[in-house]
Amino acid sequence: MSFDSLNLDPILLRAVTRCGFDTPSDIQREAIPLALAGKDLMASAQTGTGKTAAFVLPALQRLLTPPARAGRGPRVLVLTPTRELATQVSEAIGELGRFTRLSGGAVVGGMPYPPQQRLLRQPLDLLVATPGRLMDHMERGRVDFSRLELLVLDEADRMLDMGFVDAVERIAAATPQDRQTLLFSATFEGAVKRVADRLLREPVRLEMTAVTARHEDITQRVHQADHLDHKHALLDRLLREGSEGQALVFTSTKRGADALASRLRDEGHRSNALHGDMSQHERRRAVEQLRGGRVRVMVATDVAARGLDIRTLGLVINFDLPNSPEDYVHRIGRTGRGGDQGTAISLIGRQDWPRLARIERLTGQRLERAVLSGLEPRYP
Ligand code: ADP
Ligand code: MG
Repeated sequence: MSFDSLNLDPILLRAVTRCGFDTPSDIQREAIPLALAGKDLMASAQTGTGKTAAFVLPALQRLLTPPARAGRGPRVLVLTPTRELATQVSEAIGELGRFTRLSGGAVVGGMPYPPQQRLLRQPLDLLVATPGRLMDHMERGRVDFSRLELLVLDEADRMLDMGFVDAVERIAAATPQDRQTLLFSATFEGAVKRVADRLLREPVRLEMTAVTARHEDITQRVHQADHLDHKHALLDRLLREGSEGQALVFTSTKRGADALASRLRDEGHRSNALHGDMSQHERRRAVEQLRGGRVRVMVATDVAARGLDIRTLGLVINFDLPNSPEDYVHRIGRTGRGGDQGTAISLIGRQDWPRLARIERLTGQRLERAVLSGLEPRYP
């Protein structure tokens, strides 16, 4: 499945490609069509699964149509708990909206008021705000929400935990009743539930939890490595003996990815790296080299590998075990796609056993302990 089938405007698709996104993430696949259809949503998905684009793309698409009402206030309002998050969302809007001529801005705490006042006086398509500062402006009568069509609450649980329940409700009350509302939250309990009951209309609930991922088609096993050299020797053997086609190898750091890719090349493996310090262009080239078969082993970090869908990827190797068990599930999900068989192998150092235990608890299965002859671990 590609972004093309999501019925997005070509100028948004062009921006998506520019961002280096190949395939929509699960939450994007589910949320975008519903949001485009005008539904209210309450959605949860792990961190790093692309929730921002899941609401930014439908928001931009809506803004490409003429406004429903006259006025000059924003048509889309995104509330975030912190200034940092507001900045991230604004950047995503800038990138995904780069070929549109939409206007936007941010109103956040800790910044001077006058530029924000000027911003709020201009006609605006899109406003990103933290609730406290936005309330300040509202109390001074400076915000016109008469033409608001879409309200997004990002990280709603965090926002409400930070004491913004009142502010969020009062902001929502100042916007038209027939607006669309999208709520993203790690949980739907407690304050989130109460606020959702008041602000959302017949919401569709989307819960993309890792545990529901299907992994019947993936063979998983672990190899114990006593030390780093042992790990390298295991990796080399696994790559030489593997009949699984192309491999994706995960490291925990960008530097580690570069170093390992270059070491593998020295050992004769056609290998490249993929990580967040590479430019969009370099990343796209790396993926194309893998797609085209010129490269057989891609060494990647978690974020860079997200959304990657390469049919022939038969083998995933965790050179470093991820910190969170959810990331493990994500990583192995890069193989065994579309009913193909896949193999996921983790190299386990001495300090990794507690992490392995958490992975096994999350996935509800015990991973096979495997041994390669000549490279047996020396159990203490
Ligand atoms: P979340 O809000 O779910 O924690 P973000 O929206 O911040 O996650 O996205 C995490 C990272 O994934 C960002 O760097 C973003 O650019 C990237 N990303 C989002 N969607 C995709 C996709 N479909 N393919 C590849 N990368 C993506
Ligand atoms: Mg987010």
